[in-house]
Parts: sequence; C-alpha cells; structure tokens
Amino acid sequence: MLGLIALVAVLWLVSRLRSPLESECAGSPIPDFTAPRPLPKSLRGARVMLNPGHGLTLSDDGTWDFQRPQADGRGVFALEDDSNLRMARTVKRVLEAAGAVVLSTRELGTGKLGVSGQPAWREAARHHLTALEVDAGIWDSSGWSLRGDCAQGQDIRARALYANQMQTDVLLSLHSNAGRAGARGSLVLYADHPFLSAASSELPTQSACLARGLARAIPKAIRLERPELNWPDAAVAGSGNYGETGYALMPSAIVETAFHTNAIDGKALGQESFRVAIANGVRDTLQSFLESPRSC
Ligand SMILES: [Zn+2]
Repeated sequence: MLGLIALVAVLWLVSRLRSPLESECAGSPIPDFTAPRPLPKSLRGARVMLNPGHGLTLSDDGTWDFQRPQADGRGVFALEDDSNLRMARTVKRVLEAAGAVVLSTRELGTGKLGVSGQPAWREAARHHLTALEVDAGIWDSSGWSLRGDCAQGQDIRARALYANQMQTDVLLSLHSNAGRAGARGSLVLYADHPFLSAASSELPTQSACLARGLARAIPKAIRLERPELNWPDAAVAGSGNYGETGYALMPSAIVETAFHTNAIDGKALGQESFRVAIANGVRDTLQSFLESPRSC
C-alpha cells in the first residue's frame, strides 16, 4: 500500500514537472491523407504550397498577438509576421510566371477584413483556413502545444496539414531569423523525421535535397541582384522537430530568408528587389529539384 502511495506521489510530481511545451491539447483528430501524386518533372504545372510564417493569432487567453516583435529600428528591423507575407506574394508571382500553380496557407490578397478586425493577410494560417471552411482536423487539430498555447500549436500544424489536404507537390515555409545583431544571411531547415506514418521513406532525402538546393541558389540569386549586400553563404540543418514541415507528406523546407535583427538584412526584407532575388532563387531551385529530386 505504501509503495502504491509512493508511486502515485511520484507520478503526480512528474505530471507537475512537465514543461508547458509538452502539454497535450484537445481538438479534432488529424485526418488521414492520401499520399501525394509522384513528383512532376517540371515546375510548369507543379503545385507549390507557400507558407508565410506566423501572423496575428488568437491565443488561448483570448488576445490577438503577432508572434514576433514590431520593428523598432534598434534591435528589430522588420516585423516578421508581415514581411513573410510580403515575401510570399513576390515568390508566388515569380513561380506563377514560371508556370507553377501556387497556393498559400495565409491570405495573400489585400482586400479582405479578417476576424481580428485587421486585414485578413496579417492573420495566421489557422484563421485563414477556418474562413476557407477546411476540415476542422486541419486548423483545430489535437496535439502538442507551442510554448503552452494550444492555438499556436494548431496554427503550426495547420500549415503542413493543409498542404497534405491540397496535395501540393512541394511545401515551402518562409520566415526570417533572429539572433545577435551581427548575425546575417539565410538558413534552410528541413524535417529529417516526418511525423505522419503515411510519409514515404524517401521523403527525408528529398527534403534534404530541396533544402540544399535552396541554400545554394538563394545566396547566388541575391549576389546577382544585390551585390552590394555581400550576402554570405547559407547554412542547412535537418531536425525532426519542425512542426511546419514535420507533418508534410511532400518534400518541404523552411527558408529563414534573412535576419530581421540585423540592420542590413532587416532593411533588405523591406525591399522588393531583395524579395525578387529570393524568389528567383526559389524558382531556380524548384526547377532543378523537380528534374532530379534525389541528386544533390
Ligand atoms: Zn519565423
């Protein structure tokens, strides 16, 4: 009996020690998705899901918050929630000019008012997908919270789940990075351990190839378009821990385009010529990736 009481006490203590990062949230079950079609051989006609990171989110506590800090001209030089969206608009235009069919996890148009009272384009994917009336298992999924906030975790998962639902060939998340003031350049991340059992065994290799291609082509395109920026080489990293790509059934990557905490990078994020350079790098990567998705 004493042993049982001790065991219950230990279990209670462990449950109290669990980090808010690890809390489980209620919601709708994640749907079973059909595996995507085989990758097309060309960007012309390929279906690309763009995922501009973050956006205004209604948190569990009922407040509407941007996920990243406002630009202050001292330590933050671009509001990432908005600049990711502007980047996605430019990438969409360039990819469409190359014949791709481009979808987005967030509203890209300027005309609609969102449920927050702000323009819909400023809002996170979860709210856009709710407005589109997609399956609740996509925007209201059960699963882990992000920093203890269930709505934020659902917003993260919604992005890859929507790409699965729409059966796109590729998923690209667009973000900017934060770090010490001197840190500059681009970083490309990919999921090396997909979360869904329906993911093909080839997927991590394909995503790694996509990420390496982006890390080569983006600095090259920026140096061509904006040589005065002296753009550094980009790094690539794989991890099992990225929700925005981990739930994807198609090759995917997260592009941290630049550091919004650096004065040069952050200013560039506000310039269309810089966004066009990134978009050109994405287009060039997708063209060569789809021709040979396993040679990288
Ligand atoms: Zn971000």
